[in-house]
Order: sequence, then structure tokens, then C-alpha cells
Amino acid sequence: MYTVRLKAGREKSLLRRHPWVFAGAIDSIQGAPADGDTVQVESHPGEFLAWAAYSSASQIRLRVWSWQADETIDAGFFRRRVERAITARAGLVQPERGNAVRLVHAESDGLPGLVVDRYADTLVAQFLSSGAEHWKETLADLLLELTGARRLYERSDAEVRRLEGLDEYCGPLRGAAPPERLQVIENGLKFWVDVAHGHKTGYYLDQRDNRQRLMQMAAGRQVLDCFAYTGGFTIHALAGRAESVLAVDSSAEVLALARDNLALNELPVGRAELLEGDVFQVLRQLRDRRQTFDMIVLDPPKFAPTAALAEQAARGYKDINLLALKLLRPGGLLFTFSCSGGVSADLFQKIVAGAALDAGVQAQIIDYLHQAPDHPVALNFPEGAYLKGLVLRVG
Ligand code: SAH
Repeated sequence: MYTVRLKAGREKSLLRRHPWVFAGAIDSIQGAPADGDTVQVESHPGEFLAWAAYSSASQIRLRVWSWQADETIDAGFFRRRVERAITARAGLVQPERGNAVRLVHAESDGLPGLVVDRYADTLVAQFLSSGAEHWKETLADLLLELTGARRLYERSDAEVRRLEGLDEYCGPLRGAAPPERLQVIENGLKFWVDVAHGHKTGYYLDQRDNRQRLMQMAAGRQVLDCFAYTGGFTIHALAGRAESVLAVDSSAEVLALARDNLALNELPVGRAELLEGDVFQVLRQLRDRRQTFDMIVLDPPKFAPTAALAEQAARGYKDINLLALKLLRPGGLLFTFSCSGGVSADLFQKIVAGAALDAGVQAQIIDYLHQAPDHPVALNFPEGAYLKGLVLRVG
């Protein structure tokens, strides 16, 4: 057994059940754990604190599996955790309304570093920490058994793997390689998902409920969907009887999938236009042409993965929000999002307020939006809350 002893006074965050131990908090290590091995964590005076996975390369040197001294970290432990995560999703999405759901949301489900999304009969997993990587084969077997899914595809090509000293990897882990495109249902609408090449695990499941919200408010509106990806918001807007939708993304590849997603649903596709371009420039062109809209979506990629980049990110958020607010007609709605872990909900609201001030626009917040409930936030892990959104109504 390996034992990691913390420096005096450094057990505080663990006592609040925050699941990370940074390298600087460690006093000494008994034995020589390999990456992913389970270690016992002790306070300086030698009291048991937790069982955790060891990662020599990462600044997050330990990630906690369990707070119980009498727990054994083995296949049985992972079975209980995965079962718990799956059970928690039961009834979240009505089967006829959707078959794409996040089954495991890492730290917030007590499984640090493990993300699992279900797309119909296919699971897509990311193993993002040394601990998750160490238990990969066990987890893969369990996931297949407990879900009855046909295959499990691995998308461990996230950059955070490098911080853990792990190589990026992508490929089938159980079952045959998935078809180039899988069809899934979300809010009763159909979407193609490319699990091998799409962003993250293929689709942004975290926006499910926010797309539904937009669908309810889109009737009769002229909509601008910025950072449209494969058309999630665009298709919901059309399904909500929007008068027109202009979808903008810088990637021709994702827009091709958006086009096919439009065709997949019985929608008035003639009302949608897909535009390949840089949102920062397109918003300026629309301003110069004096074009206006009744509803705008801003769902940009992560501008600030860490708090250190928050200032630079703030400039980006302010710029697009300012431009978008100016393009809205009176009574127009702005759905504006940030998925940057480094930008808090509070800071995001301040940035948007600053943008409105500079734009000379009066606006009210009529809704606060979050990641969907299959992406829960454990109370002991506030970092799990990454997606925040505001719905503004322009006066
Ligand atoms: N709203 C989407 C998800 C957006 S992901 C959904 O509901 O599924 C972010 C998207 O922004 C990606 O598709 C990426 O190609 C695009 N993107 C990144 N930078 C961009 C830029 N400067 N201009 C336009 N699109 C950009």
C-alpha cells in the first residue's frame, strides 16, 4: 500500500471533500506509486483522509476516489459508482424525446477524469486522468454491461491528457468502430453525430435544455445563430417556427453536418442560411449593412480554459456581446453563453452588462441558463459548473 502524507494544515480542502490534492500540498510519499495507482492520503498527524489516484506529471497530483477508510478501490467500487451515475439519469430525458445523454460527468459523479456520453446504442468515453486511464479496461467492461450499449468508442484526444503525461488517443475500445455518422434524437428532433471527429465526444449535450428554451421563444423571429456547430440551436429555432435563421460558423466541415441535420428533420429548410465565416467579422459586416434580428445566439468556444486567461477572454466576450446587442431590434432576445471554466457566472454577467452599457442598449435578464442536469455539479466540486448563459431582452 502507498501512503501520501500532506503538509501540516493542508488537509482543509479534503475535509470539505474537494477531490483534488495539488503537488505543493504533499509532504512525503511512502513507497513508489506508479501513475494511476491508488494511494491512501493522510493528514500530517497521520489521520486517514481519502483513497486517491496518483499522477506524477500533473499539478493535480491526487484525485480522490473515496472518503471511506473501509472502501476498497476495485472493480466492485467502480461498478457501484457507474451504477449510481446511470441511475441518477433515469427519467431525465423521455426516451421518445431523446436518446443522447451524458452518463458520467467526472468529478461530479465521483469518477474523476471519466466522461461518458451515450448516443443511442453507442457510448463515447474520455479518460482524462491517470486514475481513469489506469482503470480503463475495467470501466469499459462495466459501462457496456451496465448500459447494454453496443459499442464503446474512446475520445481521449483532449488536451488535458498532456497535463497528466498521457498521450492523446482515439479509437474503438469495445465493439466495432461506429459508423461515420450516428443518428440521435434530442428534444424530439433528429441529429447526425460524428463521434470520431466531432468536437468533444461529437455533440454539445450540455445545451439540450437551453435549445429547448430557445425553441419555445423562437416563433416568428428572425434569428442569428453564432458559433452554430452542427446546427443545434438553428434546428431548434426552425422547429420553433422561426421566420428565418442565419447560422454562422468558421468551419465548413461542421456546417456540412448542419446542412444534413436540417435535411433530416421535416423543417422549412429554405428559411435557414448557413454562412461560413468568423463571427467577429460577420457581426461587423451585419452592422455595416444595418441588418437586424429578433433573436441572437452567442455560443462561442472556450475562450478561457483557466482563470489566468480570463482577462483576454473577457475582451472576446465583450466584443461579440456588444456587437450582437446592437443588432437586436427592440424586444429582441439574446441567448449568450460562456463555457469557460476560468470565467465565473458573476464575471460573465458583468462583462455582458459592460457590453450593453457601451452599446447604449437597455436590457433585462429574463433567464439564467446552465448546463443540462445530466452534467451535474457536485457541491464539493464547484469547478464542475462551467456553462453559464443569460437570456436578455433588449428594451
Ligand atoms: N452552438 C453549438 C456549439 C458551439 S461550439 C451547438 O449548440 O452545438 C463552438 C463553435 O464555434 C465550433 O463549431 C467552432 O467551429 C466555432 N468557432 C470557433 N471560433 C469561431 C469564430 N471565430 N467564428 C465562427 N465560428 C467559430
